[in-house]
Amino acid sequence: MDKLSFEQTIAVLGAVADGLIASKDELTALDAALGDGDLGRTVERGFKAISDALQTNEEADLGKLLFKLGKVFGDAAASSFGALFGTALRKGGMALKGKTELTAADIADGMQAALDALIELGKAKIGDKTMLDAIHPAIQAIRACESTDVGACLRAAADAAQAGAEQTKTMQSMIGRASWQGERSIGQMDAGARAIALMLDAAARKVMSDGP
Ligand SMILES: [Mg+2]
Repeated sequence: MDKLSFEQTIAVLGAVADGLIASKDELTALDAALGDGDLGRTVERGFKAISDALQTNEEADLGKLLFKLGKVFGDAAASSFGALFGTALRKGGMALKGKTELTAADIADGMQAALDALIELGKAKIGDKTMLDAIHPAIQAIRACESTDVGACLRAAADAAQAGAEQTKTMQSMIGRASWQGERSIGQMDAGARAIALMLDAAARKVMSDGP
């Protein structure tokens, strides 16, 4: 399919929430290796709140819905990741204001707005071993995707995000609590980057399971 309908987008967001909640133990373990180990609980709280909000949603504008979900996530999951990811969703939502269905290019536009906001708010650069290192290659993969099929482009984005997350093992943490580890951070995967890869994987799986 070359567009996700409103209903499909809601279903994809629900699948992403379920997928991340199911992965909370893995994220806790990754975050504990470099940081304070709260990421699993953060994503569980944030995505549970998103899941609840989706079930009672009356918003018909996908951009406004994403903006609202960003607020919901940030309020439910008070932590640095919660604040950053909540802002990313809000800024992505602002970029998609007025949309009632999404093409792959729309998804890339929303992710780019989110990335720009994360760079500004988090003061991190690409290569600092953060979630940016999964988001950036995912956007590039969608832009390079030659298919008009949203599922195929999301699959490419998810694979690129996972390759980016793997690549963070070679990087030294330059920002946040993980940077206190210095060179000892090399060899570990960044938990935030892995979380982004899991989100895109859950989205790609959901879209492709619904078929063209
Ligand atoms: Mg943490």
